[in-house]
Amino acid sequence: MSKNISLAKYTTFKIGGPAKYFLIAKTKKELTKAIKTAKENKLPFFILGGGSNVLVSDKGFNGLVIKIQSSKSKLFQIKPKAQNPKIWIESGAKLGNLIKSLVENNLTGLEWVAGIPGTIGGAIRGNAGVPEKSMKDIVKNVEVLDADTLKQKIFTNKDCKFKYRDSIFKRNKNLIILSAEIELKKNDSKKSKQIIKEILKDRAEKIPKGYSAGSIFKNPENISAGELIEICGFKGFAIGGAQVSFQHANFIINFTGNAKAEDVINLINLIKNVVKDKTGIKLEEEIQCIGF
Ligand SMILES: Cc1cc2nc3c(=O)[nH]c(=O)nc-3n(C[C@H](O)[C@H](O)[C@H](O)COP(=O)(O)OP(=O)(O)OC[C@H]3O[C@@H](n4cnc5c(N)ncnc54)[C@H](O)[C@@H]3O)c2cc1C
Repeated sequence: MSKNISLAKYTTFKIGGPAKYFLIAKTKKELTKAIKTAKENKLPFFILGGGSNVLVSDKGFNGLVIKIQSSKSKLFQIKPKAQNPKIWIESGAKLGNLIKSLVENNLTGLEWVAGIPGTIGGAIRGNAGVPEKSMKDIVKNVEVLDADTLKQKIFTNKDCKFKYRDSIFKRNKNLIILSAEIELKKNDSKKSKQIIKEILKDRAEKIPKGYSAGSIFKNPENISAGELIEICGFKGFAIGGAQVSFQHANFIINFTGNAKAEDVINLINLIKNVVKDKTGIKLEEEIQCIGF
């Protein structure tokens, strides 16, 4: 366990103060052990995946941050020879590495996550997705550690209570995702590679470049958050080092490289107030704010 580790480098925003204690868990065993240690020492803990959907406060986190990071060679286990193989994936598997390995194994069904940063654990917790698909469409079962009781349990897809960018794991932070089972199909890897190439090309044109945490707000019903923010004139508007993207108004970019979490929070609050006043719509954050 390390002490006083800056979290900025572990987030895609490149923002955030130090974690009092910091530990990298490479397997679900290590993750379970780390949570037990936190509980025994009455330390508040926080699970960090790829850090691509979080804003860490400038003060940091006064407890133990457990970063989950599965090693590339141990991303998943396949039940051999099955026609529709069921695969258990450790929660710290990076989505990018995962789809690469799946394609190498001639497995199809997860190509659509191409370009989404982060881990499978973080993606399941937030039911990450694209307009056509989300994690709820592919997850069969999830292996969970209840940090309250320190017992493990299997949650079926139904138990996960997936909704738009929401799940039971988002509502109960004691439910830690250890691994997940997804069902895929056998396929020619050439087809998968082509699909991934096209998705990445499309995303390269649409997704803003620079340090961000993806979409800041959830889309309200029938209208995108980006459209609302644009209507309110925020494109390009900045506070300190944080700026509303010119390309996609639901992205805030740390455009100086040294924006403060406070700049981002002030911008978020201003956007929420102005959008509410002008349109009557209440925006809700998609990102997770830590240590505020
Ligand atoms: C450039 C960019 C593009 C993006 N595009 C998309 C997109 O197209 N679609 C989309 O849905 N999202 C998108 N995102 C957001 C982000 O990539 C996803 O939400 C991703 O799934 C977050 O995973 P993570 O591992 O980085 O989670 P983190 O940011 O590390 O954590 C997010 C939350 O999940 C919790 N968590 C993480 N792992 C676990 C676990 N094992 N058990 C319990 N809780 C856990 C954390 O405690 C935290 O509260 C984008 C982000 C960026 C920066």
